[in-house]
Amino acid sequence: MELRLKGNVSEKVFDPTIAIPTLRNARSDLRTCQDTLRKMHKKYWVACDCSDGQPPIMTVRRNGSHYSLVNLTRYGTHTENCPFHYVPSKISTNTNVKRTRSNQFVFIDENTSNSFDNDTKSSMNTLKKLLLYLVDKSDVNKTYTDRTFSSNIKAILDKGTNDVYVNGKGITKKLSFGLINFLKVKEMFLSDVELEGHAEPYFIIDIVDSLESLETHLLAKKIAKGKDISSFKFFKSLSQISELNIENGPFLILSSISFVKAKSKRVVAPALTYFQPIANKRSWLPVNNTLERKAIEKIASSFEWYKKTLGLEFTCHRLLKPIHNDLGRCYPLFKFELGSHFAYFDIQLKSDSAKNTQKTMDYIVLSKSAGGAYCILDENQTVKEIQNVLFKAINEVLKAIKNATDNNPPFDKRMKCIS
Ligand SMILES: [Zn+2]
Repeated sequence: MELRLKGNVSEKVFDPTIAIPTLRNARSDLRTCQDTLRKMHKKYWVACDCSDGQPPIMTVRRNGSHYSLVNLTRYGTHTENCPFHYVPSKISTNTNVKRTRSNQFVFIDENTSNSFDNDTKSSMNTLKKLLLYLVDKSDVNKTYTDRTFSSNIKAILDKGTNDVYVNGKGITKKLSFGLINFLKVKEMFLSDVELEGHAEPYFIIDIVDSLESLETHLLAKKIAKGKDISSFKFFKSLSQISELNIENGPFLILSSISFVKAKSKRVVAPALTYFQPIANKRSWLPVNNTLERKAIEKIASSFEWYKKTLGLEFTCHRLLKPIHNDLGRCYPLFKFELGSHFAYFDIQLKSDSAKNTQKTMDYIVLSKSAGGAYCILDENQTVKEIQNVLFKAINEVLKAIKNATDNNPPFDKRMKCIS
């Protein structure tokens, strides 16, 4: 990296008071780095040497008492592995966290920050977003008949991680499958620390069948054919886990592996783990509650019936991103598809009246794009009653899609209540 005179890319500058190498190691010593940036502010630009072509140029931006490096868009771009690959660069991770693009995730380094609780909460939120982003990108939130456990893993590790960045670095080499590989991941983390003086978190993704809370730890178990096949201990003094909205697994989990403060020393541990309940081990569709899990069971059995009896292959997509149009945005749960025809399906809980009012607004937005149906379930209904409502509603949507033509869209582009 080289200093340039601000406003003049071709003017190389040497200034012995400025130690540019500290910028690359920003996270190891925030104060030195801030000091360097403060000296450069309004005076110099920096040319990065990561690419062979036109060099990327960065300038120093001040935000209150905080300085950060910002890429100037009219010059060259950084290579993928460069720590300054995106804006905000890793030096500015403590500010403007929310302004990152959707494929970029920023985790706050607890060693350089002072409000531990807030940062844990915000990092947990980032971890959740990262997990759902990987799920959506690799399409494992969609039912296919040829879906298997290992094809899901492969989809996430190959397709899901491509072009996804954590603290400015590609995540492909940082994400592993299986808590069973924790020691291996820990070694990789420690070797980064040795090489660079600091390390960005590593990640482990896995499926856990059950979770048991014991005195000192949470025991996460994998079960196959009724037998425990492996388990992992999350020690309560080291590992933070997300709140669980369903007690029973399976869960798709994402753990960030990094340093954790333990009494007087630092140890490497699964610092944060997000537990996302999913439909089942073959269909990794995220669910919010047991009723959604039941609904997916029903959906799968109806799909099977259509395939066996009529040779029609429906797919169900658990939507994780809002539907946009010029009326606004809305968040329906499912999209059913058959060929080029599709319809939305949504579930409301009777007890959620405030949310349901919002849903009514959502459906107005949705009607601009496509139609579908929803049902209202009451937790006080018997299991049988709930199943009947779900069965009726799901089948009505599937029938509407099957009978749709280009001039006759399902439900005439409206959201119909079926109960
Ligand atoms: Zn660069």
